Amino acid sequence: MKSGQNDGKINPKNEGMIDSLLREGYADGRVAEAMRQIDRALFLPPSQMPSAYLDTPLPLMKGQTISAPGVVALMTKLLEVRGGMKVLEVGAGSGWQAALLGFLAGEKGKVFSIERIPELYEFAKNNLAKTNLRNVQIIFGDGTEGLPRAAPFDRIVVTAAAPQLPPPLLEQLAEQGKLVIPVGGSFFQELTLVEKSKGQLNSRDVLSVVFVPLIGKYGNPFRLQP
Ligand code: SAM
Repeated sequence: MKSGQNDGKINPKNEGMIDSLLREGYADGRVAEAMRQIDRALFLPPSQMPSAYLDTPLPLMKGQTISAPGVVALMTKLLEVRGGMKVLEVGAGSGWQAALLGFLAGEKGKVFSIERIPELYEFAKNNLAKTNLRNVQIIFGDGTEGLPRAAPFDRIVVTAAAPQLPPPLLEQLAEQGKLVIPVGGSFFQELTLVEKSKGQLNSRDVLSVVFVPLIGKYGNPFRLQP
């Protein structure tokens, strides 16, 4: 087995982080197992590796971040990804959450993860290549438009702050599908769970969060960083 997926050895620092996430209710058993197998350290630039098991976001490149493990765990738990599901992620970043979703979707499932910044698109692809996951595809583009050629999706997760629910993502959500997305302004957002049932959308706010902006046609306009 290639590195990036645990070969049965216990990493005490990762175990400590996972235990806290379980105790605090951010992770459930399946998410914990995914985090045990897919080590966050492998998805970080070398300078950030010493901080891999801290429950905090960490800088990647181009002003973007890998989210805090607690938030990643909660989003993944809310999604309830099962084997064989088709999943779309908007905002690949480091590729860590895509890898966790790929682990949960299993060999019969498929994860597409879209990234709009070329450097991060390459970074996520290279990080994924360190694992033996073969069901995760990183795609370059504007994820606010979804991925019509592969729709509908059983699960969609957006890992950047949206000013509103992007209509293409709602359209591309399958019946009985779940969408997890932070919605709000630039200072904080509400992590929102949207479920589709009999064509109707039901949504609820779960937690206040802070994410980098979702930029694109159905997101925020592009602005140069001050
Ligand atoms: N899920 C990531 C991980 O596991 O490392 C963290 C994602 S980071 C918080 C948010 C990412 O969303 C950034 O890499 C950013 O470039 C990307 N992003 C923002 N708007 C986007 C869009 N319209 N389409 C695709 N990616 C987008």
